[in-house]
Amino acid sequence: MKALVAVKRVIDYNVKIRVKADKTGVETANVKMSMNPFDEIAVEEALRLREAGIVSEIIAVSLGVAQCQETIRTALAMGADRGVLVQTDAELQPLAVAKLLKAVIVQENPEIVIIGKQAIDDDCNQTGQMLSALLGWPQATFASKVKISDGHAEVTREVDGGLETVSIKLPAVITTDLRLNEPRYASLPNIMRAKKKPIATTTPEALGVDVAPRLAVLKVEEPPKREGGHKVGSVAELIDKLKTEARVI
Ligand code: AMP
Repeated sequence: MKALVAVKRVIDYNVKIRVKADKTGVETANVKMSMNPFDEIAVEEALRLREAGIVSEIIAVSLGVAQCQETIRTALAMGADRGVLVQTDAELQPLAVAKLLKAVIVQENPEIVIIGKQAIDDDCNQTGQMLSALLGWPQATFASKVKISDGHAEVTREVDGGLETVSIKLPAVITTDLRLNEPRYASLPNIMRAKKKPIATTTPEALGVDVAPRLAVLKVEEPPKREGGHKVGSVAELIDKLKTEARVI
């Protein structure tokens, strides 16, 4: 069976994000970009399914600017077989991403689609859910364990206060949570090998998808600076401060 994974190019999780002076977004110029961490987990899970003999081919798909090629190369260096780049300079919101992924999925016919539960740049947590609705496929989001057998996926999901296990029929969409696995590093020989793996390039126009934004970002602001804490001398002083300063009791 074929597995398709989505890999988004995002600001590296170690970078301290700076909001643009005009508050229209965050600075991306000269900022280190990497694969979205949840997508690394998606690639790793597909690799483990291939190593278990369940998956035969892994296709890594990225959508966005030409540099998304590098993100696909990272997936190929981890072990994915080939890539698809849907190239556009347009801003892509989750609905547009879901429609584009659907168009690629219709062409590629994977039986399992594994993507991140959320992208750490926009924190939307929408694409997997929208994609499953557009495809009419079952979904299992926030997966922390995946077991495939008999045309079904048994997925353990992280829910508030515990774990839930669901069984869904393939083909299906699975979104990854942090505890699903620990992604491998690409070895040097695999990085070299990845340079020869094929990446097909297409565009939203070629796929017949309208990617016009449906939402407008009004403004982006930094969270308020945290003020330093201080020690109180007694319980009475604490109660007083909670009443008069914090006004929470
Ligand atoms: P979001 O709904 O934006 O939080 O994204 C959830 C997941 O959708 C990400 O972890 C990726 O797997 C996938 N995704 C979103 N945008 C893109 C993109 N431009 N290219 C590839 N995958 C994407």
